[in-house]
Amino acid sequence: MEELFAKSIEYASLMHKISEDEMKVLISADKAGDELAGPEYEHYMKREFNSETPGILSRNSLLGLPVSKEYGGLDMPPIISVLVKERLGQLGMGISSFMNVQLFLCEQTIERWGSDTQKKEHLPKAVKGEKIYAFGLTEPEAGSDPASLRAEYKRDGSAFKITGTKYLISNGTISDHIIVFARERDSGKISAFIVDARSAGIGRIELREKIGLFTSDTGMIEFDDVEIPQENMIGNEGAGMHIAYSALLNARLGVAGGCVGIIDSALKASVNRARERIQHGKEIGKHQLIQQHISAIAQNLEMARWPTYYAAVRKQYYEKNPEDITLMEETERNVSLAKRIASRLAFESADRAVQIHGGFGYSLMSPVGQLFCDSRVARIYEGTDEIQDLKIASGLLGKGFEAYR
Ligand SMILES: Cc1cc2nc3c(=O)[nH]c(=O)nc-3n(C[C@H](O)[C@H](O)[C@H](O)COP(=O)(O)OP(=O)(O)OC[C@H]3O[C@@H](n4cnc5c(N)ncnc54)[C@H](O)[C@@H]3O)c2cc1C
Repeated sequence: MEELFAKSIEYASLMHKISEDEMKVLISADKAGDELAGPEYEHYMKREFNSETPGILSRNSLLGLPVSKEYGGLDMPPIISVLVKERLGQLGMGISSFMNVQLFLCEQTIERWGSDTQKKEHLPKAVKGEKIYAFGLTEPEAGSDPASLRAEYKRDGSAFKITGTKYLISNGTISDHIIVFARERDSGKISAFIVDARSAGIGRIELREKIGLFTSDTGMIEFDDVEIPQENMIGNEGAGMHIAYSALLNARLGVAGGCVGIIDSALKASVNRARERIQHGKEIGKHQLIQQHISAIAQNLEMARWPTYYAAVRKQYYEKNPEDITLMEETERNVSLAKRIASRLAFESADRAVQIHGGFGYSLMSPVGQLFCDSRVARIYEGTDEIQDLKIASGLLGKGFEAYR
């Protein structure tokens, strides 16, 4: 098993007793990590979606981690999902982003809020990787403030029709189904729908000019009077934002897990490089300033992993008591803390790793160069640094101190 991952499992087991079944999942994650490393690097160099990701994750039974067994999932607690994300996050944010969307934004949303028919129709195919899902909340004019979204729907007989634009959507051009959030034209109520991505009136373009995250597909999706059967609405009419925020809570924790994996890789690559590279007549690892960088990355790993594992354990309690508002608020705060800390430290660790690698680090051919470019997005998607700060602070300050509505 990959050395740092084995250590992480040991540490996490201090907070959560890992069962035999859970251990098997972690071993599969390690195997998938080995299998995906080569393809991920190759597709990164070609700046394209890693088309092998869904198949390899599915063969290793990792696409149904949070879904109940009734629908073919594994019913794993959040701490196991976080550890799996950590192992795959060691390869950068591409695989991690695919999993975030498929598992935490879409499968978990359908399982928690969907009808029996929706669950039976979508979950078994999603957990096998037969169908790929995307989550369409952000728009060109609505990012940090998704409640200001402009996509509209109206009733048309027994169906709905949606018009609008969704922007920066992961899995956007490769998905079979999209969870779309839109506002009812007259009442202004925001609702969520499962939309067949091949419906008439949908136009999709890939957004290629990113500064990293090349192996993840990102798209813009136009909806022009797209007809959606009435039964494709998720939950009640008007529950859209509630559904969106619960999905983001799942995905934020996933981002934190992936970021711990980035720090693992930054540390491992830096130690190896510092042992091998010789300058001024000795290994650069014998220069004290390089040791300082390595020490800092090791500190970052400890500072990122503990709040992430802790938030996962807290979230498990909340998932068992979803009606407990105090527990929900505490979990949201813990998850925001974990995401805020882990994403900042992942970027900082990747930056230090690039420094240790010198000119070679400043290249997309170098794994640390890839980590540097990839990790930046973790401070933006699933809620920016600033939005996490506002959630953390207002949660502590109490009612009346919300900095935004
Ligand atoms: C690669 C990638 C993949 C993505 N995948 C998806 C996806 O699958 N689905 C999806 O729906 N979205 C996705 N997103 C969108 C992402 O969630 C948004 O980019 C993010 O929420 C920020 O929104 P924005 O880009 O519009 O920035 P803005 O909201 O315009 O923010 C700009 C700046 O203003 C700050 N700001 C905004 N409001 C406040 C405030 N009240 N107080 C202080 N500062 C504030 C922000 O923190 C930020 O620094 C993705 C984004 C990227 C880059």
